[in-house]
Amino acid sequence: MNILVLNCGSSSVKFQVIQTDLEQIAANSDRRLARGSCERIGGESLVTLQTEDTEAKRTTAPLRDVRAAVDFIISWVASEKSGIADIASVADIHAVGHRVVHGGEHFTHSVLIDADVLRGIEDCIDLAPLHNPANLKGITAARERLGAGLANVAVFDTAFHQTLEPHAYLYALPYQLYRRHRIRRYGFHGTSHRYVAYRYRQIKNIARSQVNVITLHLGNGCSACAIKAGDSIDTSMGFTPLEGLVMGTRAGDVDAAILDFLMAKEGMTITEVESLLNKQSGLLGLSGLTNDMRDLLAEAEETADRRANLAIEVFCYRARKYIGAYLAAMSDTEGKTADAVIFTGGIGENSHAIRRRICQGLKCFGLDLDDARNEQMRAGKEGAITIDDSRLQAFVIPTDEELLIARDTVRAVRGVEQRY
Ligand code: ADP
Repeated sequence: MNILVLNCGSSSVKFQVIQTDLEQIAANSDRRLARGSCERIGGESLVTLQTEDTEAKRTTAPLRDVRAAVDFIISWVASEKSGIADIASVADIHAVGHRVVHGGEHFTHSVLIDADVLRGIEDCIDLAPLHNPANLKGITAARERLGAGLANVAVFDTAFHQTLEPHAYLYALPYQLYRRHRIRRYGFHGTSHRYVAYRYRQIKNIARSQVNVITLHLGNGCSACAIKAGDSIDTSMGFTPLEGLVMGTRAGDVDAAILDFLMAKEGMTITEVESLLNKQSGLLGLSGLTNDMRDLLAEAEETADRRANLAIEVFCYRARKYIGAYLAAMSDTEGKTADAVIFTGGIGENSHAIRRRICQGLKCFGLDLDDARNEQMRAGKEGAITIDDSRLQAFVIPTDEELLIARDTVRAVRGVEQRY
């Protein structure tokens, strides 16, 4: 099946076309036929389009909203002149997989979209006011353009974490607030954590129930996940993607009392404080320079900038602290805990320096880094970065959320179980 994967945000739409089916999933032989994005939607948008065997082409197009962007993408994918293998018209698009940010407590796995599912996604708008509306616009646009008879599947960022138990997902707030407003930890990046756990299972050739790992998704957004017997049992992002690790521009964990203090001392509104925590904090706020880890590392090396170094240290320390916490959270009565720590995301996949700094001091838990392996593990590669008999292993596994969305779409259409 040719699956169009759509990731619709408020100002950008990313897409991929992936050819896959149950046999290809089993043989790991899915094909990525095309990919691209429309950015800065709302005016003259930046468009990037690429097929399996051509270089990325960059152009601009006037795209006033998400619907226009989805229309543009479908027209390009279905046109013969785009040159995508096996696709000559819209009839060659067999299903659409949509990334949906928030599925609340209702969606525990990917689902075929019908009127009830649309209502369910709408019900979660309060929980993700910036993301779910854009996701819904993408779904509506695809259904209108390709016909409601074509299968559209929703794949939720939150679904993988619905296995968290109450002791992990509840905040210690008055319980009626959970009952009244569903205030709890939901967690995000679920598709990414689930994908790397699945790849780990393949690399180790083990059963799902034997997957005991701590996954660290370190990109612009960062989150950690404790995966025990294949299920997410804890994760660092919470009610929103603001909680947890230090991120590019997000603060991660902060004392909630700081909000009121800032409002009083800096004369800020709650909206301004929220924006400060989401957009001006993290690596950017600490360094005063950039939210980009690559630039920060270069700055720290070239000029020994004190605040660049400080930002990197706070970032690594927080990640290390979460690993320690999750080793405790995952330990059982027989003394067993996680078998491996897995790094993914732009920083996790590409920066051996950050991986080394995070892993420093974890020797007491049996993590014995192999410096040569770690340094050689660069862009696109996957494998172990610890010595062979390290008790707690560490791996780098590139994430592939689009592939998982395409595979879940196939599984939903074929009516087979979606556990990895
Ligand atoms: P997103 O969360 O938006 O998908 P990515 O997963 O692409 O983002 O991660 C972006 C981050 O990865 C940026 O901070 C970028 O600097 C960092 N990054 C990418 N390559 C490297 C590298 N070689 N060394 C250090 N950081 C890198």
